[in-house]
Amino acid sequence: MALPLVAVVGRPNVGKSTFVNRIAEGNEAIVHEMRGVTRDRSYHTADWNGVEFKLVDTGGIEMGDEDTFQASIRNQALMGVDEADVIVFLVDGKTGINADDEAVARILRRTSKPVFTVVNKLDNPQSEEALYEFYALGLGDLWPVSSLHGHGTGDLLDAVVEELRQVECSPDADDEEGINVAIIGRPNAGKSSLMNQMTNNQRSIVSDVAGTTRDAVDTHMVRNGVPYTIVDTAGLRRKAKIDEDVEYYGFVRAMRAIDRADVVLLVIDGTLGLTNEDQRVASYAVERGCAMVIVLNKWDIVEGPEAKQKVRDFIADRMMFVGYAPVVSISALTGKRVDRVWDAIDTAYEHYTGTIPTNALNRWLAEIRETGHTVSKGKAVLRMKYITQTAVKPPRFTFFVNRPDVVTDNYERFLENRLRKAFDLTGTPVQFRFKKKD
Ligand code: GDP
Ligand code: GDP
Repeated sequence: MALPLVAVVGRPNVGKSTFVNRIAEGNEAIVHEMRGVTRDRSYHTADWNGVEFKLVDTGGIEMGDEDTFQASIRNQALMGVDEADVIVFLVDGKTGINADDEAVARILRRTSKPVFTVVNKLDNPQSEEALYEFYALGLGDLWPVSSLHGHGTGDLLDAVVEELRQVECSPDADDEEGINVAIIGRPNAGKSSLMNQMTNNQRSIVSDVAGTTRDAVDTHMVRNGVPYTIVDTAGLRRKAKIDEDVEYYGFVRAMRAIDRADVVLLVIDGTLGLTNEDQRVASYAVERGCAMVIVLNKWDIVEGPEAKQKVRDFIADRMMFVGYAPVVSISALTGKRVDRVWDAIDTAYEHYTGTIPTNALNRWLAEIRETGHTVSKGKAVLRMKYITQTAVKPPRFTFFVNRPDVVTDNYERFLENRLRKAFDLTGTPVQFRFKKKD
């Protein structure tokens, strides 16, 4: 289920990252400590009074090649308006209003979404007269806080969470039955073309809903009797039509789509190869435990077997951390091999939701024991007694062992490789837990 989103906007230096860190502190819900995956520090999970939400520091998002400073601030505000359920507009109580604040306020005055105007850096609760000039922004109530000391943030969060509760009650496509697929990739990779190919030949598209503000365009369709919900992040961009040449807030949109996805399709332009952005998005999908299929598109114009092999090697090398994702090369333009994308989705989903019988797992574990390959720390030698699958979406395996503290990353990697050799888990990540049992 997708969590509601709170976007923190404001010009540089007003204290956005300080504010976000204070709120997200200790709230990082790390599902699985992945090796070699860089966490994105702009996109946090937070919890207040039992309400979980996502918190985005718009200042922390690298917004590509922006031309001007003003444009960048403006785009952050647009991102907030477009994507968020609640917007926190931060201003600096020490320096007062400036032209950049006014530019943001102009955008925010036009939205119907809840905006909290937060006057930061009021470290001394007595100095609240600094507050009043901010009424000129025309955004209603003001919330004095000190992100540095934490004053005022509790009251603010109470009110924010109150708004979010109302969002949560609104109907949402998340409860949709079927397979949730997110199509992700940088602009021009061919996401829309792929989406068209995937849906065109299907007569059974149920609806193309321009839904709630939270999920603008989901395509619901049925294929071979199986319902799918496809979120095409490129389609969303076009739908938004705020500013055609603005791709900046695509990142948050991709994150949002991944949050809800069972299977992520990462579309890569085969003529250009991989970008950092692709890797960043992929690591987020890994972190979220999504199944994944890598789609190498525009294969029709990658010329010759040598060039093709080069691209494949490059992807295999740079995407080692999602080694479980199959790579399917296609042409979304001609439709060539698009069927294989469907097959890969179905296979990945099957593994993502599948369970391996306990007796088969324990036969496998017995084989591992027989190899004699184990780890030790000092005098303690790891002994694994029993294994069972304890979750799906993605599959989680719990090992009962004498000394969980002895398990190393390397050893986990070894176990994962062996498990994948013994059982077909193509397309899905797996998670391991080690529990103590004497
Ligand atoms: P951002 O650019 O909006 O993310 O701003 P930062 O969070 O990086 O903060 C900019 C500067 O303001 C830093 O030096 C912070 O330490 C300072 N700052 C942030 N919040 C407060 C606050 O509540 N009180 C004071 N006195 N300084 C703050
Ligand atoms: P998006 O921004 O990711 O949605 O990308 P589009 O689907 O809009 O495609 C961007 C451009 O690449 C368009 O001009 C497409 O016609 C072209 N394109 C997409 N897929 C292919 C392909 O498989 N082969 C070739 N040659 N061109 C493609």
